[in-house]
Amino acid sequence: MKKRLTILVALAIAACCAMIDATTFKPPTGGDNTSKKPAKTVNVKTTGKKHHPKPSTKTSAPTAPARVRCNECGNWVDPTFFDDDKGVCDNCAAYQRALRAEQARQMSDPKRFTINGVSFTMMPVVGGDFSMGGTDEQRGFTVVDEFPIHQVTLDSYYIGQTEVTVALWRAVMGDVPPYENKDDDCPVVYVSWNDCQKFISKLNAMTGENFRLPTEAEWEFAARGGNSSRGYRYAGGNTVGNVAWYWDNASGYVKRVGGKAANELGLYDMSGNASEWCADTYDAYATYSQNNPLSVKDTGYRLSRGGGCHQQETRCRVSARASWLPTASSDDIGLRLVLPL
Ligand SMILES: [Zn+2]
Repeated sequence: MKKRLTILVALAIAACCAMIDATTFKPPTGGDNTSKKPAKTVNVKTTGKKHHPKPSTKTSAPTAPARVRCNECGNWVDPTFFDDDKGVCDNCAAYQRALRAEQARQMSDPKRFTINGVSFTMMPVVGGDFSMGGTDEQRGFTVVDEFPIHQVTLDSYYIGQTEVTVALWRAVMGDVPPYENKDDDCPVVYVSWNDCQKFISKLNAMTGENFRLPTEAEWEFAARGGNSSRGYRYAGGNTVGNVAWYWDNASGYVKRVGGKAANELGLYDMSGNASEWCADTYDAYATYSQNNPLSVKDTGYRLSRGGGCHQQETRCRVSARASWLPTASSDDIGLRLVLPL
């Protein structure tokens, strides 16, 4: 009798799975459902990872499966229709995929801007998901602030093909800070985080655009090659000398931008040359998955990424972080612009 019941239960589970496979799933309503997004439906594909609700039996009262909350739409959904990695319901995951496909189509071309005769190029970075921090290819070089590794989801954005040059800084500000290498095509350096905010305000007033520093996550995603990432230790390769001006090959001075190989997204000098200020305050990483993270907690420190001409190769890795006072400046810290989509 016990054996027969087990078989019946197994059959019921199989039938339940078959029904889910063949059903077009609509999300449960309720919760915060005032989203601007149009109603969506999606064919749910079952995978080995998903858990199906247990069928009720005569020997125990039926119990509803514990529901999980979608980080995107806020609805409470059955775990069957939830993407654990992204923390969103299957409908929202499908919506994000469709949105990114559309953005990839719209963003296929770089954007070019000219300020007082100085041109610069912003390269498209289609949003996506990635593991941020000291991932496997960084092994042997990492330090404690690169952990925990955590999943991040980013919207699409444009990022500077190169660091902001001396010429562009002068075109916007009318003058440049005093520094050792005055070549117009070198990255501007000796600029503090606070100086960069003034530069960006002025640039936005001139262009009517919304330029800003990259968030730390945007910087790392772009350095890793975005959705085209090949998983390199440095931006564009595993051999630091091919992609970066750093301690061993730069003789202590920044070099003209674009002199080394580009990375998967066509970005130059993400590793090495000038280290690049980011928008966030410097803080410990969160343990949980995050959408478009930006650290705003007042820690007193800002941070730069990518290492510079004075730095050892380990500082030029895509996950290496460096913290500074916002008033600090140095001959190998500059900036790169981001323009949100
Ligand atoms: Zn959702």
